[in-house]
Amino acid sequence: MKPKDECGIAAVYALKGGLPDTETDLGSYIPLMLQDMQNRGELSAGITSYDPHRNYLLKTHKALGQVKEAFKINPSNEKTIEEATSGCAAIGHVRYATCGKDDVNYAQPFEREHGRLHKWFSFCFNGNIANHVELKNYLVENKLYHINLESDTEILMHYLAREIAQFEDGDVDYVQIFKRLAHSFDGAWCLSMIDAQGDLVVARDPLGFKPLSYAITDDKVLVASESVAIWNRGVGNIQTLEPGHLLRVTKDGVKVEKFAESTRKAHCFFEWIYFSNVASDIDGVNVYESRVRAGEMLAKKETLTIDDDTIVVSVPDTAKASGDAMGFELGAKVVEGLFRNRYVGRSFIKSGNSRNKVVQQKFTPLPSVLKGKKVILVEDSLVRGTTLKHIIKDMKERGQVAEVHLRIACPPILSPCFYGIDMSTLKELFARQYTDVDATESDLPEEVRTKMANDLGADSLTYLSHTDMAEVIDLPYEDLCIACVNSDYPTAQGKKLIVKARENALKGVEGRSY
Ligand code: SF4
Repeated sequence: MKPKDECGIAAVYALKGGLPDTETDLGSYIPLMLQDMQNRGELSAGITSYDPHRNYLLKTHKALGQVKEAFKINPSNEKTIEEATSGCAAIGHVRYATCGKDDVNYAQPFEREHGRLHKWFSFCFNGNIANHVELKNYLVENKLYHINLESDTEILMHYLAREIAQFEDGDVDYVQIFKRLAHSFDGAWCLSMIDAQGDLVVARDPLGFKPLSYAITDDKVLVASESVAIWNRGVGNIQTLEPGHLLRVTKDGVKVEKFAESTRKAHCFFEWIYFSNVASDIDGVNVYESRVRAGEMLAKKETLTIDDDTIVVSVPDTAKASGDAMGFELGAKVVEGLFRNRYVGRSFIKSGNSRNKVVQQKFTPLPSVLKGKKVILVEDSLVRGTTLKHIIKDMKERGQVAEVHLRIACPPILSPCFYGIDMSTLKELFARQYTDVDATESDLPEEVRTKMANDLGADSLTYLSHTDMAEVIDLPYEDLCIACVNSDYPTAQGKKLIVKARENALKGVEGRSY
């Protein structure tokens, strides 16, 4: 199974003359923006809207399922959804769980109702607080809050509530609040919140792990984890919210402010390689173009002889840009020999079918184009290897290919992620089973790759190297988090958790280290 990102966030606010426009309804933008970021989570979707003309100033709707299911985009809307999606301002969320259960109680936004308007707020976030267990222990041991859920979101909500409670007059200084929280929170967090006074705040952690974009026009502010969700609303001039910065909309207008110094940046390289929508720009770099560069780099490293029987096939859909670029560079024919059924979702996977049957339902090899061919199979990443193993088997059996040469547009994944991607143990990582090194200087040795290829049923296997990532993503190496590849964690808690993960692996302790 491919790794999943933890969540996407969105926010919108209507403006007139640079100030909040409480007469214009823009809440219905949120489901559309979330749908553009469905790739970031299909487990649940939700919205909190703000409407000063409504008794319930904040209204939240959230449900399990994809955006179209949660918001009942098809068929007609229910009244509750209509109410929750109306208002001059709103925040929204799509979720994939890396922490917490597949239960609607874990769906976001989390709304905390209160009689004082500045203390009544709702928020949602994308990321993972790596030290959330320590933060939770502090709240419990000091009898400050009762904890209901197994989720870092609830902990974050209580920390926010404690900070807000210090501003009794309602004039909340969010720069000060996030400055303090940035010291307490170790990890990745992009956060969006709105209170019952109508103040909207969107903040990005000081290392900038997860992407966050915004645009300010004459009549609205739009914020989203991915730029495509703003671009598809017909809005240009999209900007990056820089790490350690927040954007705030209040009765005084819109402000972008710094709340913490960024001692370094640590943009998750996987956003470009696999997670993000191919049409998005992240921290100024287009996702599609970075995948094209990855394909060109794979072509440069290719040692196979390209003949008339050689074809390049991508695993749909995220590897397509790399596969096309690699084939073009090599002068090899690029064909769609493998089709993905986009309607096979989580419900099918849950229904107890074997992995083989799931892959057979999801991917269809086409013998009329594959039969007897030497296939260069391009995939964006190789994490656990389970799906690829079945794809290769299926291509050989049903597709009747002669050879499969697997090419990965990413370096070997050798260490877990503690920042919101669900690859949390050493044991689950395919490449880690073949090497003890923490980072590969170039490619893994040929004999190691031959063994890996054999175990996957492929005829050969090559990767990109972690040192290629700066060129692929077109950002300085030191501005990226590639800890799952080079084991160099950018935060103190990450460094601590990898030691614990290694100890757990040696002792045979199952499960995540946080
Ligand atoms: S460890 Fe890997 S997946 Fe996790 S944030 Fe860093 S680069 Fe992204």
